Amino acid sequence: MPNIYIETFGCQMNEADSQYVADRAEAAGYAITSVPEEADVLLINTCTVRDNAERRAYGRMNHLKVLKDADPAVRLVVTGCLAEQDRDRMQKLAPHVDAIFGTKELVRLGDQLEAWQPSFSERVDFSADRALLAPLGGSADGVTDAFSHLRAFVNVQRGCSYYCTFCIVPHVRGRFDHRPIGDVVADVAEKIAGGAREVMLVGQTVNAWRDMVAGADFGDLCREVARLAGLERLTFISPHPKDFSEKIVADLGSLDCLNPRVHLPLQSASDAVLRRMNRKYTAEQYGQKVDLIRRYLPQAAITTDIIVGFPGETEADFEATLDYVATGIFANAFTFVYSMRRGTPAANWDQVPADVASARFARLVEAQNASTLAYHARKRGTIVRALVCGTSKKDASKLAAKALDNVTVIAPKPPDYDDALYARAPWLSVAIEESRIWGCTGTVVTRAHRFSENGVPVKSPALSLI
Ligand code: SF4
Repeated sequence: MPNIYIETFGCQMNEADSQYVADRAEAAGYAITSVPEEADVLLINTCTVRDNAERRAYGRMNHLKVLKDADPAVRLVVTGCLAEQDRDRMQKLAPHVDAIFGTKELVRLGDQLEAWQPSFSERVDFSADRALLAPLGGSADGVTDAFSHLRAFVNVQRGCSYYCTFCIVPHVRGRFDHRPIGDVVADVAEKIAGGAREVMLVGQTVNAWRDMVAGADFGDLCREVARLAGLERLTFISPHPKDFSEKIVADLGSLDCLNPRVHLPLQSASDAVLRRMNRKYTAEQYGQKVDLIRRYLPQAAITTDIIVGFPGETEADFEATLDYVATGIFANAFTFVYSMRRGTPAANWDQVPADVASARFARLVEAQNASTLAYHARKRGTIVRALVCGTSKKDASKLAAKALDNVTVIAPKPPDYDDALYARAPWLSVAIEESRIWGCTGTVVTRAHRFSENGVPVKSPALSLI
């Protein structure tokens, strides 16, 4: 059986696309591997939202070339936003790439994998040569480990029609293309049947989703999905503040299974910058959306994205954002220095000097870190419910889990820890003892098969040693 290795850069949309390709590959007779040296097909799912992601993707293409040099039958395939945007340049910069599929060509990519599959069983086996190569590392996020099926991503739409002036997405993924409600609900049902405990609805502007024929908006979609038997938790990413009507937020507030976290990208709290970004809201209107969330989802943590150093950002503009963040409103924030993207309007405007942008960035991070720390500190002494992710990447004696508000929780593995057992009983109650900027640490108290169950007590590692 041939192996496919899938490496994913970027957002949850790409994770969902990788999951689709993995499903198609498995149906066509491939096994998924997390080791590039074992793969017959190497797939890189690229991102272009930031310059750094683009450089990493090209670096990875060149890095993986040694596998093709060792075994000429290995095929290197690239998909994702960079493939869509950069097809011609990619053919020049990485001529060893065998095939390039844009973001709208995933079905064709699946067909191609099917077509290639028989050829792998007839070929000369160079696996011994490949095994001599130094480990190439890598990950295949969302498609390989014993726990990945617990969290499923379901795309509700492709593309975006908003054309924020810094964003490449509408240029590479096209305008909104919303999937019919029946298709989304059927996909979620399939993921639940496959063992998903938590389903994330994914779209570039997920709450703009509409089914014109069914007359349904995003609130209706979530209520429909929440009715499915077996769905334990529901979440979504990434909404646009503009598209949170009171009706939609009230619909979300009526769902018991909705995770208590709303990601609400702010980008800037300066109206002048928001206007130049074409964000379609003012700081005051953003605040009104926060009020709606507070009213209908009072338990929800609010997280955000912020760009620092957008072209034309003055010190006063930046301080408006800094002051807003310093109120402690955000449980967490993804903060970025503005990254110029070819083909977007903002790339042609006067840029903020890099040293100014990075100094502002440091001040913003410091302010947000204080809020994040305070938010995490409030968990100390409480017991949180969390869905296990598997072994901690930094310490194999510990497990990692995600609390319902998406906070990372790390705990020593209990004495009965076993991948298969904890994948079957993945809901942990964790007594939180310490808090950090990146999350919390604690001790696993119980594990449960179902979210609604209390679960069975778990011995702590310390007790087992006595
Ligand atoms: S809303 Fe703006 S930032 Fe988000 S995907 Fe659309 S254009 Fe990009």
